[in-house]
Amino acid sequence: MSLYSTIQSKFAAAVKEGALIFTESTNYPATVKGTQLVYSLVPSLRSKPSKQDNQKEDAPKSPWLPPEDTLLVQKGPTHSVVLNKYAVTKYHFLVITTQFESQEKPLNESDWESTFEVLKQANSESGKRHVGFFNCGPESGASVAHKHVQIMTLPENFTPFVDRLPKPELKANPNGEVRPDITNSNKLPFAHFVAFLEPDMTVEDITATYFDLVMKALTVLGRDGASKSYNVVFTEEWIMLTPRSHEKTEGISINSLGTIGLILARDEQQLETIKERNWDLIRDLGYEYEPVLPFSHDEKRFIQY
Ligand code: AMP
Repeated sequence: MSLYSTIQSKFAAAVKEGALIFTESTNYPATVKGTQLVYSLVPSLRSKPSKQDNQKEDAPKSPWLPPEDTLLVQKGPTHSVVLNKYAVTKYHFLVITTQFESQEKPLNESDWESTFEVLKQANSESGKRHVGFFNCGPESGASVAHKHVQIMTLPENFTPFVDRLPKPELKANPNGEVRPDITNSNKLPFAHFVAFLEPDMTVEDITATYFDLVMKALTVLGRDGASKSYNVVFTEEWIMLTPRSHEKTEGISINSLGTIGLILARDEQQLETIKERNWDLIRDLGYEYEPVLPFSHDEKRFIQY
């Protein structure tokens, strides 16, 4: 059975057994300053344990040591695939490290190898476009301390603003390595960094590109001694990083999805705030927009993460 068929059949069985909580979300598409957003009222968020719940003394260190049998899709030596117990969309799943690793550590080559492969499989087997996301660090909106990347389908007819950004030319750095230049959108009020991927990139190239983005994020995060928190969103075509300063604003916890315009509300009151403040909420949780400055690869070698 293919990975996606296993996800689908396990999802149906887990919902039936009550091991997985999923109620269809209600989506409200919007356009702000020429960018598309989708505000979602997500009832399953009300059941999801918060970061504070997961940090209580009697809380387990991780919900995946081991994962629940009903939710486990595929167990591998380094990474496993599990269904999200509080699914935001149908077939929402996670790629977790099989052994405990900290969610505060950046994604390494082995993480990229597993998650990117699973994302590509999900796209080709389902015919739908998936997005991967990683909430890294205490202010990123993560609730679980065990390293995990989430994967879910993008809403139909939703084109993230990143898809519409002009793609910078590929240039060789002083070491002769061809890496994508970093770009962003000046339509948005918050600091964010985007790199486009090429279809023939190796996992080493993808990991190196991600670290180029992390270094950019650190130029923002390093300034006020803030914690190293950022959101990562990726598709087969691009990776985007958004440095974060706060987990919550106006009582709303926003994670990586919000940074591409998919903003989730757990109730009507949150929905009203989100409709009113949309991208400004992301600025309040991160940093003011700034253009991408040229940043030579030589300089980067001296910055330690
Ligand atoms: P984050 O909130 O970004 O740390 O992501 C953690 C994800 O794990 C959330 O989306 C939760 O819904 C999900 N989750 C929490 N507990 C479990 C569990 N026992 N099994 C599977 N997924 C879970």
